[in-house]
Formats: sequence, structure tokens, C-alpha cells
Amino acid sequence: MTSHVLDLAGAGIGPFNLSLAAQLDSVPQLSVRFFERRSAFAWHPGMMLPGAEMQTSILKDLVTATNPTSPWSFLSYLVEHKRFYQFLNAEYEAVPRKEFADYLGWVARGLTSLRFGTSMREVHANDGLFSIATDDGPTSARNLSVGVGKLPARPAWAEQLPKSMTFHSSEAAHRIGDVKAPRVAVIGGGQSGAEIVDALLDLNAVSSVHWISRRPNFEPLDATPFTNELFTPSYMERFHGLPEELRLIHTRRQVLASDGVSASTLKKLYRRLYERKLEAGGSADHGISLRPFRDVISAEQDGPEIALTMRNGFDNSIETLAVDMVVLATGYRFVLPEFLHSLENRIELNSIGEPVLESDFSLAWDGPRENRIFVLNAGRHSHGIAEPQLSLAAWRSAVIANSLLGREHFKLGQLDPIVQWETQEHSSTLSSHLGQAAE
Ligand SMILES: Cc1cc2nc3c(=O)[nH]c(=O)nc-3n(C[C@H](O)[C@H](O)[C@H](O)COP(=O)(O)OP(=O)(O)OC[C@H]3O[C@@H](n4cnc5c(N)ncnc54)[C@H](O)[C@@H]3O)c2cc1C
Repeated sequence: MTSHVLDLAGAGIGPFNLSLAAQLDSVPQLSVRFFERRSAFAWHPGMMLPGAEMQTSILKDLVTATNPTSPWSFLSYLVEHKRFYQFLNAEYEAVPRKEFADYLGWVARGLTSLRFGTSMREVHANDGLFSIATDDGPTSARNLSVGVGKLPARPAWAEQLPKSMTFHSSEAAHRIGDVKAPRVAVIGGGQSGAEIVDALLDLNAVSSVHWISRRPNFEPLDATPFTNELFTPSYMERFHGLPEELRLIHTRRQVLASDGVSASTLKKLYRRLYERKLEAGGSADHGISLRPFRDVISAEQDGPEIALTMRNGFDNSIETLAVDMVVLATGYRFVLPEFLHSLENRIELNSIGEPVLESDFSLAWDGPRENRIFVLNAGRHSHGIAEPQLSLAAWRSAVIANSLLGREHFKLGQLDPIVQWETQEHSSTLSSHLGQAAE
């Protein structure tokens, strides 16, 4: 195994560490290695349902935002595969997720710093180094990059349900083909929930689909220009500088900017429902019931059925529903990976138990500053709603690269934002004048 000390060892090769590896490919003076437990690259294979589309522009790929001449851009991938003109002619409003996953796999096959089929097992910090146990033997590194993604989040009420009668959206592509249950409830009003409802409508074995969401309606992803300002480096930097209390409030308010359903998916589903109603000749039983504003409070297995009890926020009543299967499109949660357990007590946590992240995406911990632990996809409340998305992945990787190098290798300067987010000196002077005038 590696005898020399790496500058950076990465755990996990999803899009985020892959972006870091692709950016660091242009920095040969750093020795880096990334470890992935899967035998080959795969991007959320359990949600690769037919017709699934990207929610971000292909220009927000692994590298382009800060390194447009990198050979690892989406455009390089298109040219390499001789699809450049045909891709343009296809005029996608949203690119198929399958194609973007293929691009990611192409980058993963091209980079020499990646090791597949190798889990990171244990990390210990001593003498200014991280000693790392991997499936492939020991290695050591000055810095770590943790890009292990998130774990499926399952509500407490679903814990007791048998696995045969329920599954999480992360397993959908593997489970959906075997669904024989006539009545299926899908819990969760985000993009995954919508895509699963759409896929269930194709199954002959399923006679009714119930789509249940806590949100007041089936709400679209807001991808309009001023909302997209939240997905810029300038906003992220300002957001990171706010007190934690404000960051938590803002994140809650911004949920539809990151977790709504793509307008194209909503339109497609609405048309499917309309056509079903048409075929059913106006009968109410057209095989689907949409139930927003419902908060599931319990689920009891009763023989071959599951009885769901929900609170309906629209009319403040309690509702029950019997189904044969429950699909949980209930999102993901960050958990500190097991290999960091030896450092657990040395990592600073915020008020909701998440690691505190510095502006360069490294953990606040009591170890030496020259041994940084960068964590990707754990910064929703420290850096904002763009952090768990692809939107700023290339920029974040460049921030991390600059931090490792201690100089501005990637140029990161940005124009001032279009929106004036923070109070500026002259505004407070103006308000103090107004205050004086009112006295
Ligand atoms: C279905 C779906 C669609 C999405 N679509 C979009 C989109 O269109 N646009 C957008 O901006 N965002 C999207 N996102 C959000 C985000 O971009 C993705 O979740 C993205 O995959 C996050 O990348 P990641 O590298 O953090 O994690 P992951 O993709 O989850 O990768 C983590 C990797 O780490 C590996 N791993 C875990 N533990 C270890 C270990 N100990 N040792 C070695 N390897 C390990 C895992 O096997 C895995 O391969 C989507 C999310 C989902 C769930």
C-alpha cells in the first residue's frame, strides 16, 4: 500500500469527491488518493428510474465553474463521445440523469487518483498525520476529504413495518419492478416522490397510488433567477458569515429552492392524471389520490395491510388510509461516518448536532490546523441550501484545492451579487437618519 504520506486521502467517490479529484488532477504537485467501497462508479443507482431528469444545468458539472479548460467537463465528455451536435439538437430543458451519470462514470474511469472496491475503515490522528485503515491496507495522509454522501432518512413511525411492505426511495429502481401490492402509498412530496409515483402508474399490478406530502400542495422547485442567486458563491460566502440561528431560519424558508419538484415532472404527472380521469369517464376512481398537507402520525400493520393515520392540515382533521405497501421518499440525513469515530469527541458540533464547518469546508476540530478534515454534503446549515447540490461542487472543490495549497491556484473572485443581501454601511446610516427624522 502507499508508503509515502498523501497530501489528501478522500473517502467516497460520489460526484462531490469526484469533482475534487477532477480539479486536483490539474495540481500534480499534490499527491492525493480517493477510496470508494463500490467496485465501480455509480450515482444513486437506486433512483435511476426511466425518464429521470437533472435539476441543474450541465454547465454546473464537476469542473467548469472554476476550471473551464479542464478535460473533465461535460462538454469534453460530449465531444469525446461524438455527441456534441446531437446533444444540442435534442434541446433538453432538463438533461436525462442517466446521461449525467454516464459523464460522471467517464470521468471516474479517466482519473488515476481513484481506487474502487476499497472502503475507508478507520482513521486515527497522531503526530501531524492521519493513519488510515482501508480494505487495501494502511495508508497515511496530511488531510482528509469525507465525501460519503448521506443515509436514507426513515420516519420513526415506519420503523416497525416489515421490509417486504416498505422501502426507501434510495432502493426504488431495484424494488419497483417487483411491486405486486395493489394499493401503494408514496410518502414525500419532493422530486423522488414524484418520480416514484410516475413509475408506479406504469405498473399493471398497482391499482391505486396515494401520494402523501406534508407540504400544503405539490410544490415546484423554484428555479427563477433571484432564487438561483442562492446558488452562487457570493451568496454562500455571505450565508456562512451569518450567526447559526439565522442560518437555520433561512434554510427552512428556502426549502422549495432546493427540494421542490421540477416543473416538467409536475406537468407530466398532472397530464397523466388528467388522461386517467378522461379514460375513467369522470369517475372518481381513476387509480390515484393526491393528498398534500398530510402529516403521517402512525402506521400499523394489520395482516396484509398497513393502516396509515394522518393529520390533514387543510381542514385540521384526522384521516386514515389502508394500503398494501408504503414507499418512503423521505430524504436523507448526514451521519458522521464510522471511520471517524476515534475523532468524534474532538469535533465541534452546532446546536443541532451537526459538525461545524469552516469557510473552506473543513471541520472545526481540536487537531492541528495543517491537518484538515474537509466534509462535503454536510453543510446545508453552514453554507446554505446549495451545498448538498451539484450547483457549487466545482467551486467548492476549487476552494478546497486553494486551501490545501495555501494560495489562490483557482481564481475564485466573483462580482458582487445582484441582490444586496446584507446591510451595508450607507443603509444603516440612512436608517439612523430616518430614525432621527422621526424623533
Ligand atoms: C436521486 C437524486 C437525484 C439528485 N439529482 C440532483 C440534481 O439533478 N442536481 C443537483 O444539484 N443535485 C442532485 N442531487 C443531490 C446531490 O447532488 C447528490 O446527492 C450527490 O450524489 C451527492 O454527492 P456525494 O458525493 O456527496 O454523495 P454520494 O453520491 O452519495 O456518494 C457517496 C459515495 O461514498 C461511498 N462511501 C460511503 N462510505 C464509504 C467509505 N467508508 N469508504 C469508501 N466509500 C464510501 C458510497 O458508496 C458512495 O458511492 C440528487 C440527489 C438524489 C438522491
